[in-house]
Amino acid sequence: VLSPGQEKLHLNNVTVSQGVRMLFSLMTPNESSFATVQEVPKYVNQATPYFSGLILLEIVLGWLKTDGPRIKINDFITSLSAGMMSRLPQLVMRSLELSAYIYVWNNFRLLELPWDSAWTWWLAFLGVDMGYYWFHRFAHELNILWAAHQVHHSSEYYNLSTALRQSVTQQFSSWAFYLPLALMVPPSVFAVHVQFNLLYQFWIHTELVKDLGPLEWILNTPSHHRVHHGRNPYCIDKNYAGILIIWDRMFGTFAPESDKVVYGLTHPISTFQIWTVEFLYYPYLWQRFWEAEGISNKLSVIFKGPGWTPGKPRLGDIADIPQITGEEMPHDPTWSPAMQAYVLVQFLLLLDVYNNLLKDQTVGTFSFVFFFTFTKNKMLLCLSSRANAAEMEMLRCVLIMALQQFGYIKPLVPLLAFPIEVSLTDTYIITIVSITDHLS
Ligand SMILES: [Zn+2]
Ligand SMILES: [Zn+2]
Repeated sequence: VLSPGQEKLHLNNVTVSQGVRMLFSLMTPNESSFATVQEVPKYVNQATPYFSGLILLEIVLGWLKTDGPRIKINDFITSLSAGMMSRLPQLVMRSLELSAYIYVWNNFRLLELPWDSAWTWWLAFLGVDMGYYWFHRFAHELNILWAAHQVHHSSEYYNLSTALRQSVTQQFSSWAFYLPLALMVPPSVFAVHVQFNLLYQFWIHTELVKDLGPLEWILNTPSHHRVHHGRNPYCIDKNYAGILIIWDRMFGTFAPESDKVVYGLTHPISTFQIWTVEFLYYPYLWQRFWEAEGISNKLSVIFKGPGWTPGKPRLGDIADIPQITGEEMPHDPTWSPAMQAYVLVQFLLLLDVYNNLLKDQTVGTFSFVFFFTFTKNKMLLCLSSRANAAEMEMLRCVLIMALQQFGYIKPLVPLLAFPIEVSLTDTYIITIVSITDHLS
């Protein structure tokens, strides 16, 4: 197994046709089977331009239609910021999903299916999709996992940007659900499908596609996934599918779309601050844990559903959630057009830096330590200082990004490239936090 640093040597790029098809799970076994993990393209990192293209298309079609989807800058930026942050750990380490998988394959595999067989490819497709179903179901039914996954459900809007609102901490639990596959399917095949599975779930986050006829029987579609994002009683704990909706039909969690879906958490958090969206649930869980009486109740707070209270069934009572009136209004504080323009421009700059960072990554242990100490210190400084200081910091960020963008900052020694990228990473976490702070 090569170190992640050596993987850089094998950066395979996808063609435009593949880039579009990978978003809809339409790649063939022939073009996406690889002998080694190192050869597997970083499909998700290369998806940014295709995501952007479809998001733009959705915005334009939304303008043209009178009842088009609602997209608000504040919500949009918070979703994209969460998406960017969720990918950061993978700049400095191989994903936990893949590391754990390779470990089980190396030590415990029962048989070795051939990596170049279409049968293995399809088996992995089904296996990863079912693994995702169970991971996703546990993420809703276990409070401790919900603490991470609630980030994805925190938007009160439903559009393509909602797909990118991913949790930073979720990756620390999802890995366990794919390990049975590691007993026989080579890691290089798994590494392809775990990416395709994630990518497929992008396009289903839209209100523009109403009904896909017979496809609704087999595939997870925009309609099915709208139900999953609803807070109407009929939507709660339904439609966990990734690519295939058959798992929900088989395991009894399927609900078709009926009443107009009202999106978001049953108790909306009404903020756009990324730090709050990502992490607020953990202290809340901690508090409920301490307040629960007796060890059995304490364990239930952690391992039963988010809606559970003493004396209630494992997943809580559906009658306890707030009623839907149809008059619900998403959180949308007023802010000046000048500030909107300022925040949007900064955000687009940031997006560009982010894309460059993903395209060209190098890794080292030194940098890893460097990353954590610096980010933490600056973060604390930034959060504890006044609004004014945050703006100064933001200007500094923009300056650094601009200098880097136009080629004025370049590493002298290739080995130094990473520390510089790391400090940029750091810069953009702070920028994300400052920007989203302005929104709330
Ligand atoms: Zn979910
Ligand atoms: Zn979703």
